[in-house]
Amino acid sequence: MGRHALPGTPPVPLTLRKSARARRISLRISQLDGRVTLTYPTGVPETEALSFAHQKEAWIRGHLQERPEVETVGIGHSIPIEGIARRIVPAQGRRVLLQGDEIGVPAGAEARRLARFLKELARDRLTGACDDYAAILGRPYHSLTLRDTRSRWGSCTSTGGLMFSWRLILAPPEVLHYVAAHEVAHLAEMNHSPAFWAQVERIFGPYKGPRRWLRDNGAELHRYRFEVAS
Ligand SMILES: [Zn+2]
Repeated sequence: MGRHALPGTPPVPLTLRKSARARRISLRISQLDGRVTLTYPTGVPETEALSFAHQKEAWIRGHLQERPEVETVGIGHSIPIEGIARRIVPAQGRRVLLQGDEIGVPAGAEARRLARFLKELARDRLTGACDDYAAILGRPYHSLTLRDTRSRWGSCTSTGGLMFSWRLILAPPEVLHYVAAHEVAHLAEMNHSPAFWAQVERIFGPYKGPRRWLRDNGAELHRYRFEVAS
Protein backbone atom coordinates (compact mmCIF):
# COMPACT_ATOMS: atom_id res chain seq x y z
CA MET A 1 0.00 0.00 0.00
CA GLY A 2 1.47 3.35 -1.01
CA ARG A 3 0.49 7.00 -0.99
CA HIS A 4 0.35 9.02 -4.17
CA ALA A 5 -1.61 12.01 -5.38
CA LEU A 6 -3.03 13.39 -8.58
CA PRO A 7 -1.43 16.82 -8.99
CA GLY A 8 -3.67 19.86 -9.46
CA THR A 9 -5.79 22.11 -7.28
CA PRO A 10 -6.44 20.60 -4.92
CA PRO A 11 -4.21 17.53 -5.23
CA VAL A 12 -6.21 14.32 -4.86
CA PRO A 13 -4.56 11.77 -2.54
CA LEU A 14 -4.64 8.22 -3.89
CA THR A 15 -4.48 5.11 -1.77
CA LEU A 16 -2.87 2.32 -3.78
CA ARG A 17 -3.83 -1.28 -3.11
CA LYS A 18 -2.08 -4.16 -4.78
CA SER A 19 -4.41 -7.13 -4.74
CA ALA A 20 -3.89 -10.77 -5.63
CA ARG A 21 -7.62 -11.14 -6.18
CA ALA A 22 -8.13 -8.10 -8.41
CA ARG A 23 -8.67 -8.90 -12.09
CA ARG A 24 -8.24 -5.36 -13.36
CA ILE A 25 -7.35 -1.85 -12.26
CA SER A 26 -10.22 -0.14 -10.47
CA LEU A 27 -11.01 3.10 -8.65
CA ARG A 28 -13.29 3.52 -5.68
CA ILE A 29 -14.36 6.72 -3.92
CA SER A 30 -15.52 6.33 -0.34
CA GLN A 31 -18.84 8.01 0.37
CA LEU A 32 -17.79 8.28 3.97
CA ASP A 33 -14.57 10.24 3.75
CA GLY A 34 -13.90 10.79 0.05
CA ARG A 35 -10.83 8.56 0.03
CA VAL A 36 -9.85 7.47 -3.48
CA THR A 37 -8.58 3.90 -3.59
CA LEU A 38 -6.79 2.59 -6.65
CA THR A 39 -6.71 -1.19 -6.71
CA TYR A 40 -4.57 -3.14 -9.19
CA PRO A 41 -3.67 -6.79 -9.78
CA THR A 42 -0.35 -8.11 -8.51
CA GLY A 43 0.95 -8.58 -12.04
CA VAL A 44 0.34 -4.96 -13.09
CA PRO A 45 3.13 -2.42 -12.54
CA GLU A 46 2.31 0.49 -10.22
CA THR A 47 3.09 3.00 -12.98
CA GLU A 48 0.39 1.48 -15.16
CA ALA A 49 -2.15 1.73 -12.32
CA LEU A 50 -1.18 5.37 -11.75
CA SER A 51 -1.53 6.25 -15.40
CA PHE A 52 -5.03 4.70 -15.29
CA ALA A 53 -5.90 7.05 -12.39
CA HIS A 54 -4.52 10.03 -14.36
CA GLN A 55 -6.74 9.17 -17.31
CA LYS A 56 -9.75 9.11 -14.98
CA GLU A 57 -8.92 12.40 -13.28
CA ALA A 58 -12.00 14.28 -14.55
CA TRP A 59 -14.25 11.44 -13.41
CA ILE A 60 -12.61 11.36 -9.96
CA ARG A 61 -12.86 15.13 -9.45
CA GLY A 62 -16.49 15.10 -10.61
CA HIS A 63 -17.41 12.49 -8.04
CA LEU A 64 -15.53 14.24 -5.24
CA GLN A 65 -17.44 17.45 -5.95
CA GLU A 66 -20.82 15.73 -5.73
CA ARG A 67 -20.05 14.38 -2.30
CA PRO A 68 -21.35 16.47 0.63
CA GLU A 69 -18.34 17.83 2.43
CA VAL A 70 -17.91 15.62 5.42
CA GLU A 71 -15.80 16.57 8.39
CA THR A 72 -14.43 13.76 10.51
CA VAL A 73 -14.12 14.91 14.07
CA GLY A 74 -10.65 14.67 15.62
CA ILE A 75 -7.69 16.47 17.20
CA GLY A 76 -6.71 19.60 15.26
CA HIS A 77 -10.13 19.98 13.65
CA SER A 78 -12.82 22.47 14.55
CA ILE A 79 -16.41 21.94 15.55
CA PRO A 80 -19.12 24.46 16.44
CA ILE A 81 -20.52 24.03 19.95
CA GLU A 82 -23.39 26.34 20.92
CA GLY A 83 -22.71 28.20 17.70
CA ILE A 84 -19.04 28.96 18.40
CA ALA A 85 -16.21 27.25 16.51
CA ARG A 86 -14.03 25.29 18.96
CA ARG A 87 -10.70 23.76 18.16
CA ILE A 88 -10.35 20.15 19.28
CA VAL A 89 -7.13 19.81 21.31
CA PRO A 90 -5.63 16.97 23.36
CA ALA A 91 -6.56 17.09 27.07
CA GLN A 92 -4.21 16.14 29.89
CA GLY A 93 -6.80 14.87 32.35
CA ARG A 94 -9.43 12.21 31.95
CA ARG A 95 -12.35 14.46 31.12
CA VAL A 96 -13.55 16.37 28.10
CA LEU A 97 -13.12 20.06 28.92
CA LEU A 98 -14.79 22.96 27.12
CA GLN A 99 -12.81 26.16 27.59
CA GLY A 100 -13.37 29.23 25.45
CA ASP A 101 -12.78 28.43 21.82
CA GLU A 102 -11.10 25.10 22.59
CA ILE A 103 -12.39 21.72 23.61
CA GLY A 104 -9.89 19.36 25.24
CA VAL A 105 -10.41 15.66 24.63
CA PRO A 106 -8.35 12.92 26.35
CA ALA A 107 -6.42 10.61 24.03
CA GLY A 108 -8.10 7.45 22.74
CA ALA A 109 -11.50 7.21 21.05
CA GLU A 110 -11.62 11.02 20.84
CA ALA A 111 -14.62 11.13 18.50
CA ARG A 112 -16.66 8.84 20.73
CA ARG A 113 -15.76 10.78 23.88
CA LEU A 114 -16.63 14.04 22.17
CA ALA A 115 -19.99 12.69 20.95
CA ARG A 116 -20.83 11.52 24.48
CA PHE A 117 -19.91 14.92 25.90
CA LEU A 118 -22.00 16.75 23.30
CA LYS A 119 -25.02 14.53 23.96
CA GLU A 120 -24.77 15.24 27.69
CA LEU A 121 -24.49 18.96 27.03
CA ALA A 122 -27.44 18.79 24.62
CA ARG A 123 -29.52 16.95 27.24
CA ASP A 124 -28.64 19.53 29.88
CA ARG A 125 -29.49 22.53 27.69
CA LEU A 126 -32.64 20.99 26.17
CA THR A 127 -33.96 19.86 29.56
CA GLY A 128 -33.45 23.36 30.97
CA ALA A 129 -35.16 24.97 27.98
CA CYS A 130 -38.10 22.51 27.92
CA ASP A 131 -38.66 22.87 31.68
CA ASP A 132 -38.81 26.66 31.29
CA TYR A 133 -41.14 26.65 28.27
CA ALA A 134 -43.41 23.94 29.70
CA ALA A 135 -43.77 26.05 32.86
CA ILE A 136 -44.71 29.14 30.82
CA LEU A 137 -47.12 27.08 28.71
CA GLY A 138 -48.61 25.49 31.83
CA ARG A 139 -48.37 21.91 30.56
CA PRO A 140 -45.85 19.29 31.62
CA TYR A 141 -44.05 17.01 29.21
CA HIS A 142 -43.62 13.32 29.89
CA SER A 143 -40.12 12.46 28.65
CA LEU A 144 -37.18 13.85 26.70
CA THR A 145 -35.25 11.65 24.26
CA LEU A 146 -32.18 12.45 22.17
CA ARG A 147 -31.48 10.92 18.79
CA ASP A 148 -29.31 11.57 15.76
CA THR A 149 -32.09 12.13 13.25
CA ARG A 150 -31.59 13.50 9.79
CA SER A 151 -35.21 14.16 8.92
CA ARG A 152 -36.26 16.34 11.87
CA TRP A 153 -34.84 18.44 14.66
CA GLY A 154 -37.52 17.53 17.13
CA SER A 155 -40.89 15.91 17.62
CA CYS A 156 -43.66 15.67 20.20
CA THR A 157 -46.01 12.72 20.71
CA SER A 158 -49.63 12.94 21.88
CA THR A 159 -48.51 11.47 25.22
CA GLY A 160 -46.03 14.30 25.78
CA GLY A 161 -42.85 12.55 24.68
CA LEU A 162 -40.34 15.07 23.33
CA MET A 163 -37.56 13.98 20.98
CA PHE A 164 -34.65 16.10 19.78
CA SER A 165 -31.59 15.76 17.61
CA TRP A 166 -28.59 16.14 19.89
CA ARG A 167 -26.82 17.97 17.05
CA LEU A 168 -28.82 21.04 18.06
CA ILE A 169 -26.03 21.62 20.60
CA LEU A 170 -23.81 22.59 17.64
CA ALA A 171 -26.21 25.41 16.66
CA PRO A 172 -26.40 28.85 18.30
CA PRO A 173 -28.30 28.66 21.65
CA GLU A 174 -31.34 30.60 20.37
CA VAL A 175 -31.81 27.93 17.69
CA LEU A 176 -31.79 25.10 20.26
CA HIS A 177 -34.19 27.15 22.40
CA TYR A 178 -36.50 27.76 19.46
CA VAL A 179 -36.74 24.02 18.67
CA ALA A 180 -37.41 23.29 22.36
CA ALA A 181 -40.18 25.92 22.44
CA HIS A 182 -41.61 24.60 19.16
CA GLU A 183 -41.93 21.04 20.46
CA VAL A 184 -43.23 22.17 23.85
CA ALA A 185 -45.89 24.30 22.09
CA HIS A 186 -47.12 21.05 20.48
CA LEU A 187 -48.16 19.92 23.98
CA ALA A 188 -50.97 22.49 23.58
CA GLU A 189 -51.47 22.37 19.80
CA MET A 190 -50.69 19.16 17.91
CA ASN A 191 -50.58 20.92 14.54
CA HIS A 192 -48.98 23.88 12.78
CA SER A 193 -52.07 26.09 12.84
CA PRO A 194 -51.96 29.85 13.54
CA ALA A 195 -52.96 28.96 17.12
CA PHE A 196 -49.83 26.81 17.38
CA TRP A 197 -47.53 29.57 16.10
CA ALA A 198 -49.19 32.00 18.51
CA GLN A 199 -48.17 29.68 21.36
CA VAL A 200 -44.58 29.53 20.06
CA GLU A 201 -44.51 33.33 19.93
CA ARG A 202 -45.99 33.60 23.42
CA ILE A 203 -43.50 31.26 25.12
CA PHE A 204 -40.42 31.96 22.97
CA GLY A 205 -40.85 35.37 21.32
CA PRO A 206 -40.07 36.24 17.69
CA TYR A 207 -39.05 32.92 16.16
CA LYS A 208 -38.51 33.71 12.46
CA GLY A 209 -34.75 34.29 12.78
CA PRO A 210 -33.82 30.95 14.40
CA ARG A 211 -36.32 29.14 12.19
CA ARG A 212 -34.64 30.56 9.10
CA TRP A 213 -31.20 29.77 10.52
CA LEU A 214 -32.15 26.09 10.75
CA ARG A 215 -33.50 26.04 7.22
CA ASP A 216 -30.37 27.70 5.81
CA ASN A 217 -27.69 26.08 7.98
CA GLY A 218 -29.24 22.89 9.35
CA ALA A 219 -27.47 20.64 6.84
CA GLU A 220 -24.13 21.98 8.10
CA LEU A 221 -24.77 20.35 11.47
CA HIS A 222 -24.90 16.94 9.78
CA ARG A 223 -21.47 17.30 8.20
CA TYR A 224 -19.65 16.24 11.34
CA ARG A 225 -18.90 12.56 11.70
CA PHE A 226 -18.13 11.03 15.03
CA GLU A 227 -17.61 7.41 14.05
CA VAL A 228 -14.26 6.22 12.83
CA ALA A 229 -14.24 5.80 9.07
CA SER A 230 -13.18 2.34 8.03
ZN1 LIG B 1 -43.87 21.14 14.68
